[in-house]
Amino acid sequence: MKITDLKCAVIGGSPVVRVTTDEGIDGLGQAEWAKPHLKPHVLYYRDYIIGQDPTDVERVVSRIRRLGSFKPWGSAVSAIEVALWDIAGKAAGLPVYKLLGGKVRDRVRVYNGGVRFPMEGQSPDHYAENMARMKESPEGFSIIKQGIAFHSEMADTVPDFYYGEAQPGVRFMQGGLMTERGLAHVVACIEAMKGALGDEVGLALDCGPGFTAPDAIRLAKAVEPLNVMWLEDMLSGDYTPYVQPELYREVTSSTSTPIHTGEQIYLRQNFQGLIEQRAVNIIGPDPLDVGGIAETKWIAEYADLHGILIAPHGVADGLIGLAAHVHLAATLPRNFIALEYPAAKPEWWRDIIEGLPDPIVRDSFIEVWDTPGLGIRFNTAEAKKRLAEQDRGFFD
Ligand SMILES: [Mg+2]
Repeated sequence: MKITDLKCAVIGGSPVVRVTTDEGIDGLGQAEWAKPHLKPHVLYYRDYIIGQDPTDVERVVSRIRRLGSFKPWGSAVSAIEVALWDIAGKAAGLPVYKLLGGKVRDRVRVYNGGVRFPMEGQSPDHYAENMARMKESPEGFSIIKQGIAFHSEMADTVPDFYYGEAQPGVRFMQGGLMTERGLAHVVACIEAMKGALGDEVGLALDCGPGFTAPDAIRLAKAVEPLNVMWLEDMLSGDYTPYVQPELYREVTSSTSTPIHTGEQIYLRQNFQGLIEQRAVNIIGPDPLDVGGIAETKWIAEYADLHGILIAPHGVADGLIGLAAHVHLAATLPRNFIALEYPAAKPEWWRDIIEGLPDPIVRDSFIEVWDTPGLGIRFNTAEAKKRLAEQDRGFFD
């Protein structure tokens, strides 16, 4: 089998990848809906993979892997890798999880990082009310993650929150030493959310990046009695093109609160320091940023060897991304906690993708399906209505 084309269309903001072959089998991949600008980056790889056998996934990906980088520049390689697994599975008549070594579990746990309701404000009561609404959402999530501190509007809107210079309107640029008042506000909001959740639903917190190490230690120690699931990306993380294992190790070794990072990291080599130094308790690679399904599997296994847990990031990976997550998570070792559920955004994605369970999530779990490849397909009649003029030939 040979690859005949690599196509990319931006559908609902997401760059969607379609790899076609000379045997009529095609494969799908998807990058985050926040990254429509990646379309030319995806197509850049076209000439590197045309004519290759897509079922030799590793050989094809090895031709392009070095030409990617940290978030968002690992997404194109990752989405192509996913599309190759889709083809390999269809060609073999097997679901992707079988090609990865087979299932460890029949259903995978998901956590809520993206089913949201508008926040009325930034007070502890607002956080508690919002959390109570999320607790009632029909997916029955057993873990909910909320953005706080520098991963929220607190830095912009809570007076005297920190000593840094506010930069409103710039994505996650805030950061610096927090005031006593600012840190107390964060702790009060976490206590209020825990009050709403009780011990029935786990609370995870996306915190930065932007914390200094002393504040990260102070926050982690302050919330120790609350048994939060994890504190994510306090020092570096989302859209930070480097890793700080030594600094993370200082924080992690100072507290019993689990520390988490890794959604922006590209490739296994860049997880090596975090894992070998046991610099965090939980890693959160995003399969659609880190280099794909096999890359995440390798990192998860290596983390497990070192007693480190994994909760893959995925909030914006869309429904094709969801399929990749589910096949991957079915095969991960027991250090797997839960994957971040990529809800359909916009909701009409549910009308254009077929093959997923309905409802997708029941009691915080997704049943792993058995159809070949990723086991999903476009309803092309519906999907064509969502194509921009320049992408009209995407399904040809
Ligand atoms: Mg995050």
